[in-house]
Amino acid sequence: MEAAAARALQLGVSSVAFTDHVDWTLRNMHGAGARKGDRASVVDDVFVVEPLDVEGYLECLQRCRDRFPGLRILSGVELGEPHLHPAATARLLAGGDFDRVLGSVHTLPDLAGQGGWVEVGVAYRQRPALDVVREYLRAATELAASNAPFTVLAHLDFPLRRREHWRKPPFDWLMVEDETRAVLDALAGSGRALEVNTRMHFPVTLLKWWHEAGGEAVAFGSDAHEPGRVAHEFALAAELVEASGFHAGNRLDDLWGRA
Ligand SMILES: [Zn+2]
Repeated sequence: MEAAAARALQLGVSSVAFTDHVDWTLRNMHGAGARKGDRASVVDDVFVVEPLDVEGYLECLQRCRDRFPGLRILSGVELGEPHLHPAATARLLAGGDFDRVLGSVHTLPDLAGQGGWVEVGVAYRQRPALDVVREYLRAATELAASNAPFTVLAHLDFPLRRREHWRKPPFDWLMVEDETRAVLDALAGSGRALEVNTRMHFPVTLLKWWHEAGGEAVAFGSDAHEPGRVAHEFALAAELVEASGFHAGNRLDDLWGRA
């Protein structure tokens, strides 16, 4: 976290939020194994994410704030499928006082027969590729329409990350326009913000549809996971967001609003 904060300052970024993962949905792995850097273990072929050490996280956040007073550092968390885990979500948020709470979908139903869930990458082995994207969007709609306590929907383009062949040529969002607009309508109706995630080139089509849905706010997420990727491609993302009808807020850590 300290290296990430140093990197942000070096880049001239004025404010960052550290939104570590909290995932309660158990994932059947079907032999896939954990990926390098996952804060998790695989027990009996089930992926179990380690609980967030909230106290340690907040201590480290304070160390970063003391060491880098020129950087505005927000606390935060990324909740995986919080609408499926209301009690655990409520317990976590009661003990943390997080400035920025992201909600996201990482899993889809496991079709292998025993019920349960699989990570999106494994879901691709169980259904036609386009069905994965459609189902992901339906799951995201459910999350966006729920009353789960989060303010930003993270990485709506997540399923594209897990499938090499969507990248070239780029995925055509018109194939899933109805499903995508359903997510954005539900999200806009809830008053929450859409995250422009720069792990991949964020689809400008989604920003256009977000504006048309009446979306009020945009957040920027580099989903960095390592200091070197903090604010990755933010300059380009900011241009796209501005061209889509949004502008920076008054305070350094404001979300971007409708122009
Ligand atoms: Zn995520």
